[in-house]
Amino acid sequence: PRRSKRGGVLVIGLGRFGSAIATTLDRLGQEVLVIERNPALIQLYADRIPTVEADATSPEALEQIGVRDFPVVVVGIGSSLEASVLVTGNLVDMGTAQIWAKAVSAEHGRILQRIGAHHVVFPEADAGARVAHLVSGKLLDYIEVEDGFTIVKMRPPKETQGFTIEQSKVRTKYGVTIIGVKSPGEDFVYATPQTRISASDLLIVSGHSELLDRFAARP
Ligand code: ADP
Repeated sequence: PRRSKRGGVLVIGLGRFGSAIATTLDRLGQEVLVIERNPALIQLYADRIPTVEADATSPEALEQIGVRDFPVVVVGIGSSLEASVLVTGNLVDMGTAQIWAKAVSAEHGRILQRIGAHHVVFPEADAGARVAHLVSGKLLDYIEVEDGFTIVKMRPPKETQGFTIEQSKVRTKYGVTIIGVKSPGEDFVYATPQTRISASDLLIVSGHSELLDRFAARP
């Protein structure tokens, strides 16, 4: 397996979450190594991503794989709470600088945090909250960056169509900022006050989620 003194990411578990992380990191050109105990899953990914078949609950196995060389480790085990907790505890004991752990429930997340995981993620809860915004309105994409500050992709409300951003006074009226506009077949361009919006455009808009929801609810 490839090893790294800095920058490499070790992913534990090739489930839906771990495999998405590993393949994306690999595609981004990041050095990544995967530990998985199920040989069938190893088979599935081995030609694309460096993988090791091992039980990550064993501190000896982790040592042997060279876990101390990895500044970042992702624990992608969700279905077994016991394994998730044991593996995370091992990593904390070994002094891993950044431990990212997946939680399947709020309780699971609290335990992981208490053991010492640095980042706890809730993929299903997060996806559910995000999709709620998509199904309830006109939003085509939705990402909450921090404490309500959100960026969305949406179709332009009627009152903005045919007008420049300056004319439709979106920021004054709704408290949100149009940051990008995309016409069909063209790339997104940064919005300026003179950018004219047409019905077939797509908008990237930023602002507080409540204000964005109000803007997106306009006909
Ligand atoms: P997801 O919901 O993302 O698919 P799962 O919890 O179902 O996540 O998958 C976790 C993966 O981690 C499985 O492929 C499982 O074989 C693997 N796994 C579980 N425990 C261990 C362990 N102790 N060592 C290595 N891999 C493990």
